[in-house]
Amino acid sequence: MRFCRFDDNRLGVVDGETVRDVTAALDLLPAVRWPLPQGDQFMLNFDKLRPEMEKLAKEAPAKLLSEVKLLSPIANPGKIIAAPVNYQLHLDESREDTQINFGGHVKTIDEYGVFLKATSSLIGPSEGVVADWADRRIDHEVELAFVIGKQGFRIDEADAMDYVAGYTIGLDMTIRGTEDRSYRKSLDTFTVLGPHVVTADEIANPGKLDFWLTINGEPRQKSNTSMLIFGIAKLIAYASKAYTLYPGDVILTGTPEGVAPVVPGDRIDAWIEEIGPMQVMVRGS
Ligand code: MN
Repeated sequence: MRFCRFDDNRLGVVDGETVRDVTAALDLLPAVRWPLPQGDQFMLNFDKLRPEMEKLAKEAPAKLLSEVKLLSPIANPGKIIAAPVNYQLHLDESREDTQINFGGHVKTIDEYGVFLKATSSLIGPSEGVVADWADRRIDHEVELAFVIGKQGFRIDEADAMDYVAGYTIGLDMTIRGTEDRSYRKSLDTFTVLGPHVVTADEIANPGKLDFWLTINGEPRQKSNTSMLIFGIAKLIAYASKAYTLYPGDVILTGTPEGVAPVVPGDRIDAWIEEIGPMQVMVRGS
């Protein structure tokens, strides 16, 4: 299944070039009040909602995907975890380019581990990235992202794939500079997820997906997830060694070589095999 969130928080099942409005399935969500349980409410209850979504999708009205406003398919992740320098050629370019490393020594992912991005940085593709720090270089980073479907702590790498609910495209937008990653990558609009989540059962080998990113049609990044230094299972084991993973937590797997600046007015096109294309505009405010 491919699900999305669109327009005014409608829940959709993607069917080719259309989206089926299955918002009524959300009636199955339990009523909650403060304090909310850990995790994203939708993903916590996804196993219960899915059959209802499938049933409703058969008769729900279809809208053209091109005519809806796409929001982040995950609304309230408890954590957005991200992997730094997880492709060798991106490590190489980061070490060579002073506009990326700002004079600092770029370490390896073994040395850095993973980092966290503020959940308030999260948007969907139709909302657009705001690049309004005119004196600073703001880069695109396209990454395979995945969503946790099951709670776990200290997950064995051998069992880790059982914890993945689905896959989506992630943009880990970044201001280059000397500040900590958690600051430079957490500006409002600096995490884009979309256009939909493809459930894990539909992607046989997430460790072998082609993907690319273009700016205004000009190729910038192109790689395959087989080039990841820490693969998906290792990232889950590594992250969950420190913190419990909850349904709805998002992990961005890292970006390959080719990172480069964007400016207001740019059109970002990203594509990942078996997930599809995603288009995001860069805005000045
Ligand atoms: Mn990144």
